[in-house]
Amino acid sequence: MSENRVALITGAGRGIGATIARTLAAEKTDIAIVDYSDESAAAETLAALKEAGVTARYYRCDVSDFAATKAVVDQIVKDFGKIDILVNNAGITADKLIMRMEEADWDRVLSINLKGCFNMIKHVTPYMMRKRYGRIVSISSVVGLMGNAGQANYAASKAGIVGLTKTVAKEFGARNITANAVAPGFIKTAMTDALTEEQKQAMYKLIPLGALGETQDIANAVKFLVSDDARYITGVVLKVDGGMYI
Ligand code: NAD
Repeated sequence: MSENRVALITGAGRGIGATIARTLAAEKTDIAIVDYSDESAAAETLAALKEAGVTARYYRCDVSDFAATKAVVDQIVKDFGKIDILVNNAGITADKLIMRMEEADWDRVLSINLKGCFNMIKHVTPYMMRKRYGRIVSISSVVGLMGNAGQANYAASKAGIVGLTKTVAKEFGARNITANAVAPGFIKTAMTDALTEEQKQAMYKLIPLGALGETQDIANAVKFLVSDDARYITGVVLKVDGGMYI
């Protein structure tokens, strides 16, 4: 059994999840990455985690698959001995106006972004309950709080995470398991890098702090919510959006 705390982070092969993994590793947390890309896509992240001196392993799994997530959670507990922290970060978009949105666009986004969180919570909480300790953080979005034209499926999935988180907080609080959500605004990623300067200027006007967020801003919020400093915080949605949605 690991002496360090153990975090299972979904979608941590790249992007925000990878920064969360590196940030928790710097706190001496062992990391189990669950991602459906090929392991080679996470090579850089895994190398950085090992460099930080923690145990890090990669598990290829689609979070929307109930049976596969059960198997992967059981395997992670076999390998690490426990799971102290669950970060539900895996997510996708399939943006279209409702007029053009197909049933498949809706189902795919809801099953990865929302059912994926349920699957992981369902399978991880029995282990956390036995230890009477758990920290669960799910990555929502300000879009789930404010809506966004062209993102009905995504916004609904991210709003669903809010209801799920508050319910988990109520059902598992007595077992010393906290559940919180982080709602990022616009974060600098490969996607936002591709925007034109004009598009970026239009975005800045919507953000009181006048800049895009960094993946590190999200990781810092997660780091706080899983720390002992946040032991009395559960059921909150922490917006990390430069004031975009107030
Ligand atoms: P990203 O696309 O760079 O990374 C997402 C990761 O999730 C990838 O490694 C991908 O392989 C993995 N993934 C996708 N579907 C999966 C599945 N079914 N099973 C397992 N893994 C899967 O995205 P990102 O920008 O780093 O976003 C991470 C999270 O933050 C997402 O939930 C996203 O909705 C949320 N978010 C992002 C922003 C932003 O501006 N980037 C804003 C608000 C919320």
